[in-house]
Amino acid sequence: MDGWDFVSTSSTIMPDILLLKDVLHFSLEYDPLQAVEPYPFPRSQGSPLPFRTSFTCEEFRSFWNRERIAFQWVYCSEKNSRSFYLHSKIPDSPLPSFVRAPGMNAKGPGPGRLYDWTLKHECRQWDQGQQLTLNSDSVGQGCPVYIRMRKRVDEDRVEVEYHWEHNHSTEPKARSVFPLGPNELHWVRRMIQEGHEWKAIKKKLRPDEEHLQRVMSMVRTAMLFKLGCSLLML
Ligand SMILES: [Zn+2]
Repeated sequence: MDGWDFVSTSSTIMPDILLLKDVLHFSLEYDPLQAVEPYPFPRSQGSPLPFRTSFTCEEFRSFWNRERIAFQWVYCSEKNSRSFYLHSKIPDSPLPSFVRAPGMNAKGPGPGRLYDWTLKHECRQWDQGQQLTLNSDSVGQGCPVYIRMRKRVDEDRVEVEYHWEHNHSTEPKARSVFPLGPNELHWVRRMIQEGHEWKAIKKKLRPDEEHLQRVMSMVRTAMLFKLGCSLLML
């Protein structure tokens, strides 16, 4: 049948709607004291890349919540995702959704829109130009890891294309040579906004003097203009 199937108005099944916070490249639930393992799907070396699968919205939330904490990601501006990803500051806002009008063919309105939205995130260590001053074997450069996630129009499922094999160590120790990642930065911002003591924040984050210096430097730079100097005085 072309177009929509008839759905009874008495149906009580509500569609599972993904929100912006469900697809962000960092987690709003990040806690530096809580270790998170990557999502358990087969990661055997030599298996075809990228790994492709399809999740229900609920499965996708669980999957991505773990992957985005276990690894470090950056948002990749691709397709038209900038309009809803970078311009929206409301984590609870719903992602774009296109409704197929009754009577339209299976490809929907326009020249066959297949997806409500498409997003791509890359490993933070993908860029060869960014980290060349860090001379260590554990520091990957030009990492090929990316994930592309997209939702088909009229289907409550998320297709995932995941090139998951990093070319560097992903151990927390190796990560610590980098400045704070997006998970940590957003966590620090939240702690400060909630009125936590700066000393307590530092202690939780990385109880190591060298790293504390990085923390302070990063947070100062990132927040100076938003929250004012007084909050960051030590
Ligand atoms: Zn990587």
